[in-house]
Amino acid sequence: MIDVLHVSGGYSNEAILKDVSFRVNKGEFFGIIGPNGSGKTTLLKMMSGILPIKSGEITLNGESVSSYSVKDFAKWMAVLPQHTSQTFSYTVKETVSLGRYVHQKGLFQSSSEEDERVVQEVMKQTGVDHYQDDLLDRLSGGERQRVYLAQALAQNPQILLLDEPTNHLDLAFQKELLDLLKKWTNEKQLTVVSIFHDLNLASLYCDRLLMLHQGGIKTCDQPDEVLKAEKVQEVYETRIEKYPHPKIPKPQIMLVPEKQDSKKEVPLIKEDFLRVSKEMIHLQSPIPLKTLSSGVTGSGMGWHRSFVNRHVGKDYNCDDHKQDMIDYLTDHGFEPNETVGMMTAVDLKDVSYQFLEMDGCSIFVVVTAGTGNAVDVAFGEKHGFTQSPGTINTWVFVNGKLTDEAFIQCIMTATEAKVKALREESILDQITETYATGTSTDSMLIAATQKGPEISFGGSITPLGSLVGKGVFACTKQALQHYVARKNPK
Ligand code: ADP
Repeated sequence: MIDVLHVSGGYSNEAILKDVSFRVNKGEFFGIIGPNGSGKTTLLKMMSGILPIKSGEITLNGESVSSYSVKDFAKWMAVLPQHTSQTFSYTVKETVSLGRYVHQKGLFQSSSEEDERVVQEVMKQTGVDHYQDDLLDRLSGGERQRVYLAQALAQNPQILLLDEPTNHLDLAFQKELLDLLKKWTNEKQLTVVSIFHDLNLASLYCDRLLMLHQGGIKTCDQPDEVLKAEKVQEVYETRIEKYPHPKIPKPQIMLVPEKQDSKKEVPLIKEDFLRVSKEMIHLQSPIPLKTLSSGVTGSGMGWHRSFVNRHVGKDYNCDDHKQDMIDYLTDHGFEPNETVGMMTAVDLKDVSYQFLEMDGCSIFVVVTAGTGNAVDVAFGEKHGFTQSPGTINTWVFVNGKLTDEAFIQCIMTATEAKVKALREESILDQITETYATGTSTDSMLIAATQKGPEISFGGSITPLGSLVGKGVFACTKQALQHYVARKNPK
């Protein structure tokens, strides 16, 4: 639809853009990104015909844009600039109506019913209809931005060029505006070309991104390709991390602030922070820990300071155990969002814990274990599905900085060590009468300080993995022995 072919140029003699070529397709949401001064606005001005190009060509449906009359061009393309110099003595509706100018005919141009219908429709779509009679200078920056968007839409264009459209908008309006634009690209085949400062918004909404660097194209591709960490770091000259969005398959860029507290003593997580009572086992960390867990609260990956293993009766049965746990934590002075909460029916006095250290690497393991629901995982289908409290809860605290890979390997290693302990204690699945590998509602937590030594791996023969294997095996075995001894007193 739009072809930018070997375009160079800028202001006076200096070439700001150098040999820039790309194509924007019909119905595409196309983002332009790049650091300050990289030429984004200059490029947009050239595409909208405001700024002449020095060499090369821009075509619209195969015809040079210079061959269109101003009015014909405006029927194709509307522009929402970053700053508008319009005086504010107009009302909202008058401002929006100016967008209809390109469709009015004859010497005495007057608004037709069609113009009125379009103006009302776009004001409604952009949410400015209820203050259509207000003067523009009474509105906030964000409201004004939406009025100008309505004006651009009143042109009924095929192509919309936007220079940082979300600049003055709060979070909800950013989303609403971009959702609306995306909907129009899908439903009306509107083509959107937009400059973005916010790389995460660009990633969420754009089909493709053009990354400019010093007046040239660094890369032009899908967001996942363009937002590769190395490319963003090189072009923006700052350290970033790239992560997948948790809900949709789009990359997100995270800034990492410079460390300010490097001189502070890093606490070792160990027994000193653990409290055991009849009602709960509780570890309060002095710093937030990065966690991977299957807790009732705080599951998945996150950062948590409080760790609670709560005792519940054997007949505990609750329709909404998550809410029940949140209420319990709140009643006991914990912030549920900061807490990994688990539950167990075993006697908490039978807990087993151990601090282990080797070659500058240290961990603290806490295990509660009971085998009421013991299951041989190879025959899980022989058991009915009942939601009863977890009976082997394993916590592994690591004093070190783990990779995501090491977190997952720690889960594997700890699970293998648990299975080995169950085998050693000859715990059986009561239904199949084969050796049990766990219980039906076990939970696990790996929590790391993310300070101190960098630990890349947690597999069974790595330094960390061998500590985890040894510690979880020993603690699970001892907790099982306590449990069996309590059940069968001599
Ligand atoms: P971006 O939008 O990526 O921040 P711009 O396209 O606004 O970058 O600017 C690119 C370069 O052009 C900058 O070095 C800027 O100083 C220069 N420039 C921008 N506008 C003008 C102008 N009106 N006259 C002269 N130079 C300009």
